[in-house]
Amino acid sequence: MRLRNVKNASADIEKSKYFLKEKEGNVFSNDNPLHVEIGCGKGDFAINMAIKYPNINFIAIEKYDSVLVRAIQKVEELNISNLYFMRIDAKEIEKYFNKEVDVLYLNFSDPWPKKRHSERRLTSKTFLDKYDSIFKGEKIIKMKTDNRKLFEFSLIEFVSKGYLFEDISLDLYNDDIKDNVPTEYETRFANMGNVIYQVSVKKD
Ligand code: SAM
Repeated sequence: MRLRNVKNASADIEKSKYFLKEKEGNVFSNDNPLHVEIGCGKGDFAINMAIKYPNINFIAIEKYDSVLVRAIQKVEELNISNLYFMRIDAKEIEKYFNKEVDVLYLNFSDPWPKKRHSERRLTSKTFLDKYDSIFKGEKIIKMKTDNRKLFEFSLIEFVSKGYLFEDISLDLYNDDIKDNVPTEYETRFANMGNVIYQVSVKKD
């Protein structure tokens, strides 16, 4: 998702107290667990999770200014102390996080349907290898998507990298799943009647 021509997006992002340009070590004033979302889009999930779980620290990552600025505009009106946004490409995630993440969220990641682009999928083995070094201990990844092919691909990649399934839903909105916090894409696709898939995987 890249929105065009958002005037002053970069400047608006950089002056926000919720934006982290650089990150060294723990940026929160506590040792609470750290949950990271990659590809946060316009921020609904990260913002609502941070509000719902004040004892968890959240960092939400997005590649594009034009999208991130929308998240920043939303959070700016709130008073939250457990959430930051970063403008980085997941390709470089190991440069920013080192043995500190407890849970990683991948919500409605771009499917990259062409086989020759499969390594760009955020659940490809290439990315799963990158994530290894960001986790503090046990590695927990939670993904949601409405794209069945991406879901199936991801399950295979998770297994091939030694992850075990914790929780799986093949129809989130018809399963008795409590505490779901929807993303923007999720709300849109669920309203269109699309099936939403969810999986939570972990490995030591
Ligand atoms: N997670 C949001 C949701 O569910 O509503 C947005 C989903 S949108 C399909 C995917 C988002 O991931 C886009 O905002 C895109 O810019 C971002 N993205 C894609 N590749 C990325 C990468 N390598 N690093 C960081 N963000 C990325």
